[in-house]
Amino acid sequence: MASNNEQQNQAGRHQEVGHKSLLQSDALYQYILETSVYPTEPEPMKELRELTAKHPWNIMTTSADEGQFLNMLLKLMNAKNTMEIGVYTGYSLLATALALPDDGKILAMDINRENYELGLPVIQKAGVAHKIEFREGPALPVLDQMIAEGKYHGTFDFIFVDADKDNYLNYHKRLIELVKVGGVIGYDNTLWNGSVVAPPDAPLRKYVKYYRDFVMELNKALPADPRIEICMLPVGDGITLCRRIK
Ligand code: SAM
Ligand code: CA
Repeated sequence: MASNNEQQNQAGRHQEVGHKSLLQSDALYQYILETSVYPTEPEPMKELRELTAKHPWNIMTTSADEGQFLNMLLKLMNAKNTMEIGVYTGYSLLATALALPDDGKILAMDINRENYELGLPVIQKAGVAHKIEFREGPALPVLDQMIAEGKYHGTFDFIFVDADKDNYLNYHKRLIELVKVGGVIGYDNTLWNGSVVAPPDAPLRKYVKYYRDFVMELNKALPADPRIEICMLPVGDGITLCRRIK
């Protein structure tokens, strides 16, 4: 007979029918892209996506469906003052910039300016570059500086974190002070290539293996943080939205 614990675990498991991920196949994902995402993708985003596809590190880019999601979310929130940590060639940055009002702001940080500059002409052509303040360098010291200055506390509507996964918890400690109550922090790649459910001895690529523990630590810490409400979405590689409530 199953123990109480096992029965409880069983009750928390998804059912085979109904609760299973909707994405049962690559064809279904392709269907989403072709029916919902590509037909409405703004021209500059398409151009940036195609330009990025030729770059050797293109695996890092935000997917088109996630770009559409971020753009919609920011509009629903009426976001104005935002931050992005991890820019690469700027696909999520452009999705954000296009969603904000003309006087909206994005503080965008990346250790690599070269990749940002690759996408910048497309962002400029789209007429949204004036919303972006790009800072080259590691994000953590910038956040510390902002906290020390005091005036940035509780000022951000939305913060997208898509950089060094081993620092996500360090980012969280600081960002929770910078985001406003009612504002949202989005942590990207929280399903980490599906590796969060891989057995400990699974043959994973080196970088996937290295960052997995940090992602799993974050995934444990966020639901235990009483200052936020969370929602983990299986969009892209997983994005966890954290709404600050106090
Ligand atoms: N959001 C981007 C997009 O839509 O294409 C993808 C970002 S990519 C997954 C991660 C980026 O984080 C890289 O461009 C990398 O240079 C940057 N990065 C890594 N460590 C960083 C740090 N400590 N501070 C700021 N950026 C960092
Ligand atoms: Ca990402």
